[in-house]
Amino acid sequence: MLIHNAKVVTWGEPCQLLEDHAVWIEAGMIRELGPSKAVLNKHMDAEKLDAGGKLLMPGNICAHTHFYGAFARGMAIPGSAPRDFPEILKKLWWPLDKALTEEDVRYSALVCLIDAIKHGTTTLIDHHASPNAIHGSLDVIADAVDEAGVRAVLCYEVTNRDGPEKTQAGLEENIRFIERCQAGSVAGGLVQGTFGLHASLTLSDQTLQDCRRLLPQGVGFHIHVAEHEADQDDSLSKAKVRVVNRLHEHGILGEQTIVAHAIYVDAHEIDLLAQTGTWVTHQPRSNMNNGVGVAEVESLINAGVSVCLGNDGFSNAMWEEWKTAYLLHKVWHRDPRRMPGDLVKKIAVDNNARLAGMFFPEAPIGEVREGAQADLILVDYHPTTPLTVGNLPWHILFGFHESMVTTTMVAGKLLMDEKRLLTLDEAEITKRSRELVPEVWERYQTFVPAD
Ligand SMILES: [Zn+2]
Repeated sequence: MLIHNAKVVTWGEPCQLLEDHAVWIEAGMIRELGPSKAVLNKHMDAEKLDAGGKLLMPGNICAHTHFYGAFARGMAIPGSAPRDFPEILKKLWWPLDKALTEEDVRYSALVCLIDAIKHGTTTLIDHHASPNAIHGSLDVIADAVDEAGVRAVLCYEVTNRDGPEKTQAGLEENIRFIERCQAGSVAGGLVQGTFGLHASLTLSDQTLQDCRRLLPQGVGFHIHVAEHEADQDDSLSKAKVRVVNRLHEHGILGEQTIVAHAIYVDAHEIDLLAQTGTWVTHQPRSNMNNGVGVAEVESLINAGVSVCLGNDGFSNAMWEEWKTAYLLHKVWHRDPRRMPGDLVKKIAVDNNARLAGMFFPEAPIGEVREGAQADLILVDYHPTTPLTVGNLPWHILFGFHESMVTTTMVAGKLLMDEKRLLTLDEAEITKRSRELVPEVWERYQTFVPAD
């Protein structure tokens, strides 16, 4: 495959903006990058795709998401509206995840994967829960990811909230799936596993110890941390230490561990996250929606923590998350200098690419250069003001819309071209999901605790 007549945004170091360039793709990778004419002349027989002057850039990466939440859209929460985040968990997410059958898990994932492909998100790191369909749930999601053709990292969230049997089942699901990924390529190598934990506040010392002891070699954990003060209150009463210290004592932190949110962490905990090389993901849309507060992202970065950008189950339109991060920190700090565009880009592009690269180390992800993975999108953006490498983040923040993504490719395979989905049948998936959801909503109602 040869994509020509593109304005290439390379990302990577140094980032370049290359007019009328082409990439030649073979065996899932970018083998050649050069001026259109030269590359065309060299590969006369290659299958060609004329980019028509659109931007060709690496696909977006989402560092923390929940496919299982897709069916919450439009769902009514019975009784009084949740007052805070712990109530949102109890009245929305915990009864909803209990309502999911294996088929719901599959369609919930497929719905999100369509959204991802349409919006140019090519790698997703998911955190799954379906307490009444645990065993094999990660295989079900992996099959959906395989059908879609994107790249994903999967895990099951271990928790004590549903009793010891389900704790054990969650633990086993992680191990089984990680070992399956390590034993041979899953979805042609596009799916990897990591070890999911819900959050300190639903995990006992014994469970943390068991998970650490049984953690397969070569992987880390993916866990929510201090999304609300409740996580700290719980840790202080249960373990007499703060959440990050508690997780550190149990060996949960480290260079392969992802911590989502880290909103209520103090300076010492930030140091600990930095010293251990733990990744932190930021999800501003979710934080605003839950009314939980704002992570001190700039303090984390200044301390040396690699902060990445996730969406926590919001739409896989990652530029929406860029825009929210850019705006939120300004209003929160009453300072328009906070969270500048180039810092959003560093988080969403550079750090997300490094995180994805940890799971898929065979070739660089998130940049257009020879030898990199061919995870690419075409963006139909024709700026009315000069576009340079320096001002590109601000063009994305103020000019880009996900609807401008016309073409999505992962590992050299076209998943969408000219807005036509090539791997997933959107009509069928939409139809089936609308058949399934009324029953999910009905079951959900039975699990919601009374006010
Ligand atoms: Zn989350």
